Amino acid sequence: MSFNIAIDGPAGAGKSTIAKLAAEKLSFIYVDTGAMYRAIALGLLRSHTDIADEAALNARLAEISVEISYEDGLQQVYLNGENVSGLIRTEEVSDMTSRSSAIAQVRAKLTDLQRDLAAKENVLMDGRDIGTTILPNAQLKIYLTASVQVRALRRYKEYLAKGQKEQTLAEVEKDVESRDYRDMHRDVSPLCQAEDAVYLDSSEMTIEQVVDRIVDLARERM
Ligand code: C5P
Repeated sequence: MSFNIAIDGPAGAGKSTIAKLAAEKLSFIYVDTGAMYRAIALGLLRSHTDIADEAALNARLAEISVEISYEDGLQQVYLNGENVSGLIRTEEVSDMTSRSSAIAQVRAKLTDLQRDLAAKENVLMDGRDIGTTILPNAQLKIYLTASVQVRALRRYKEYLAKGQKEQTLAEVEKDVESRDYRDMHRDVSPLCQAEDAVYLDSSEMTIEQVVDRIVDLARERM
């Protein structure tokens, strides 16, 4: 039987960086479910689909396929056969992802893909509803968070490093807050801590400390 680790938490808590490193140490496959939602959002943006129009949304979703593969250990995400991994991290896609991922049909499209991967392999899967909905029997569940201020500052520094200076720190903080609100208050699979998840607040921890804590917890249970 495969060993599954679920990591959930709000945007900017460091989930993907930490999950990637912990997966490497454990020789597990890292599954970034956010990238799958982002690929669907890109597909919806490209076709200018009005996501409030249910018939239009369903028709478009029926044409969209999302697949993932691993190249040099890194997850690649494909939208209808095209590798879109480098196109899904823009603000426009982030915003559409946060809105479209609240829709049940969008989530249903990815549920089997995520569960099938976890059934076959030892995975460390990160997202919003992995411990609560996708893998309720995961052997280890982590709820990874950090304060809004710390998460906004991390994101702001990432933008500066990429030469993106359009947003002030206060604006990034507002964005983080509104994305949190949407993820936590949607009707379908809202972001919340699973009862049996270990709560980790990374505000005052280094990346290495968080990675080591997760690896230790996993080894104790394997
Ligand atoms: O993790 P990442 O920031 O890439 O996720 C982008 C968006 O996708 C989140 O803000 C959330 O709305 C959505 N998401 C989700 N469920 C997941 C993973 C991501 O709803 N399992």
